Amino acid sequence: MRAMIFDQVGKPLVLRECSTPEPRGSDVQLQVLACAVCRTDLHVVDGELPNPKLPLIIGHQIVGRVTCAGEQAKLLSVGERVGVPWLGWTCGECFYCRSGNENLCPRARFTGYTLDGGYAEFTVADERYCVPIPESYSDAEAAPLLCAGLIGYRSLVRAGDAKRLGIYGFGAAAHIIAQVALHQGRSVFAFTRRGDQEAQKFARGLGAVWAGGSDERPPEELDAAIIFAPVGALVPAALAAVRKGGIVICGGIHMSDIPSFPYELLWGERTICSVANLTRKDAADFMKVAPEVPVRTTTQLFRLEQANEALTGLRSGKLQGAAVLLPNPS
Ligand SMILES: [Zn+2]
Ligand SMILES: [Zn+2]
Repeated sequence: MRAMIFDQVGKPLVLRECSTPEPRGSDVQLQVLACAVCRTDLHVVDGELPNPKLPLIIGHQIVGRVTCAGEQAKLLSVGERVGVPWLGWTCGECFYCRSGNENLCPRARFTGYTLDGGYAEFTVADERYCVPIPESYSDAEAAPLLCAGLIGYRSLVRAGDAKRLGIYGFGAAAHIIAQVALHQGRSVFAFTRRGDQEAQKFARGLGAVWAGGSDERPPEELDAAIIFAPVGALVPAALAAVRKGGIVICGGIHMSDIPSFPYELLWGERTICSVANLTRKDAADFMKVAPEVPVRTTTQLFRLEQANEALTGLRSGKLQGAAVLLPNPS
């Protein structure tokens, strides 16, 4: 099979011919129909996340079709279409796994980071961590739901019943979660890079009541804010925009350092929290919600060998919606 291989920080991915992985135990082998590109992929290739598997096939928003199954796999059958998200395996035994917080398992393995992922024609995944894909979605449309959607949804749940919701960083996760938030009757305030008229227009087109630069103050106090952009300076900015008792949720896996800020911004029982990884329950919940909204994803399609272009587009903020690789175009 062909795969885009990452083996050195700071170097582009390299297209290589490799042996197709065989499923063992409860793994299934999947033909990759679509794999969406996530900011976490950039954090991996930039060396911002420690100790990736090397060499590595990145990509953790995989829509695939089961081509064969390991001897212990019994949940999925050949021909079924499923999703493979970031959470690839957990121990099932630790305090976190036993208390419904498998996203925090210290032995967890992650797709496209400590396990090979979907920037390839085939992959293998433990069937117990695969996610059903609603039928109404095409392969490319469904792929961004698997991380941007899932992590975004977990972040949105943390916002509780916040009516006025700020979203900082209006990329793949934001464009999905804004639709869910609007469907739930919330008002969305979109914050983009300063002067990014295109992104602000995109946000207003989705139904945001207000869109502006992240250095601007919204016209009303917010009940909650979710930060998807990996920029630590947005934390004090978001705290300044939320009301007393409000919450700021950091939805990304990596952020630049948070600058110091006066206690006054946190005072008034404001809360800052992070969202780490996802659980299988998040996936099941979100895949039920998505077709009800229905969430529509905006995608930009790339061939497998164009993966570096897709990553560059994401890095420069030039993409609208989500980049999706199609490793096996029909
Ligand atoms: Zn565990
Ligand atoms: Zn991701």
